[in-house]
Amino acid sequence: MSRFFSTDLKDLNPYIPGEQPVSGGFVKLNTNESPFPPSPEVKKALDESRVSELRLYSDPTAKTLTDAIARYYGVPSDSIVTSNGSDEILAFIIKAFCKDRGLAFADVTYGFYEVFCKLFGVEFVTVPLDRDFKIDVNDYKGLSQNIIIANPNAQTGVYIPVSDIKTLVSENKERLVIIDEAYVDFGGESVIPLTREYDNLVVVQTFSKSRSLAGARIGFMVADAALAADVKKIKYSFNPYNLNRLSILAGAAALADKEYFVKTTAEIIKNREFLTDSLKLMGFKVIDSKANFVLASHGAESGRDLYLALKKEGVLVRHFPGGRIDDFIRITVGSAEELAVLIQKLGIILQGAENA
Ligand SMILES: *Cc1c(COP(=O)(O)O)cnc(C)c1O
Repeated sequence: MSRFFSTDLKDLNPYIPGEQPVSGGFVKLNTNESPFPPSPEVKKALDESRVSELRLYSDPTAKTLTDAIARYYGVPSDSIVTSNGSDEILAFIIKAFCKDRGLAFADVTYGFYEVFCKLFGVEFVTVPLDRDFKIDVNDYKGLSQNIIIANPNAQTGVYIPVSDIKTLVSENKERLVIIDEAYVDFGGESVIPLTREYDNLVVVQTFSKSRSLAGARIGFMVADAALAADVKKIKYSFNPYNLNRLSILAGAAALADKEYFVKTTAEIIKNREFLTDSLKLMGFKVIDSKANFVLASHGAESGRDLYLALKKEGVLVRHFPGGRIDDFIRITVGSAEELAVLIQKLGIILQGAENA
């Protein structure tokens, strides 16, 4: 740390992204990207003339994309705010709404919630998942803080039904409920329609996972227009042009190709079932997931050892050291070919453990 670093940030532990190797050669199952390229419509939308338009600033309202999202979900355009990845909109939301009340979230969830709280000086409390890594919405009842829940939850993939979220929102009218739906397209149901009914609900989504556009950095939120207007105040106080011209077009094109979206997400769901079954056959404990990843542990090898052994074999998965899921590895649901390699390598590793 330099002597110039602000003292109020000395406890900041930045988010640690999964490895993004610059040279290829890895089977990459560590950051929940899609194994499929974006819709072919995306490339068509980004022609030569679009590149020359990069001399101009992008549209701060990202109208092309905002209107496409509004039509897709049947919500008003003024209920939507777009951002440079959903991480950015999460930051804006926490900055806008959480200083007075604080924020509550699960003890195992997306690491950025805590990082943003620390960055913005927001008090937070963590609420333990139950023994099966499930969220019990009753655990959030007696609290005074705003609530953020990833559904399906990050790291575990566990999904809670819309009825649970409806309970949470309707019983806590004076607290904001933020639902992060980064993984909802892999078998869950979005609560975006509920934003028309409740003015204390914010729903966050991303194009990074189910729409194969992690590198384009596209996220958005949907909420009551008054909440959206507040978040826009933060956005316009930070970076009005947060979405670049190419990403606005890419996002709108991806959203328009519903057929491709349905096909690729169905394929991920199918591969997830295959991966879950294969891991169980090898003696893994696998948490039931509705996301594009599974969390799994094996009695014969620690999470860390599995992670390291797989990396040596050219397969990247994610390990979260130190907490409740230290025993586990998180495996992104890749293509059938990638999963076949993973299963084969795991077989070799576990055989070695048995013979050791
Ligand atoms: C991946 C992820 C995000 C971030 O997505 P970006 O849009 O790529 O910034 C947000 N929340 C959760 C739970 C995620 O897993």
